[in-house]
Amino acid sequence: MAVMFKPVRSLMLYCRYCRKVVPAEFDRVITAEKADIDINSLFDYLCTNCNHVHTFSGIDIIAEPHSEPIRDYAINKRFLIGEKLSHPSFEIPGLIVGKEPGRPSSIIVSFASRKGSIKKFVENFGG
Ligand SMILES: [Zn+2]
Repeated sequence: MAVMFKPVRSLMLYCRYCRKVVPAEFDRVITAEKADIDINSLFDYLCTNCNHVHTFSGIDIIAEPHSEPIRDYAINKRFLIGEKLSHPSFEIPGLIVGKEPGRPSSIIVSFASRKGSIKKFVENFGG
């Protein structure tokens, strides 16, 4: 049986068109016909600034309700868009606002205390 997945209604995302972190709203889910909505479905979010669509798999975004604790960054951990992390180089937690595919993949993290500070970290290394 498929694990049901409820995507968050809104996410803060790094929009590559706007080149900044913007609120994005859930738009629709894409599944194979008659398939259940689960963690392997694709979820479209619309940038509220430019209306471009950002599509994510359920394995890359937080689900609702979201109440996970802030995790410490480590290169071998896997993170979710919408999740907060703490990093030893920064005094306050960062918000994960995007991902870049690759081997290994990277997370894009916004640190609000430093104006416009967007950092990229490797994740899931060796995973
Ligand atoms: Zn945008």
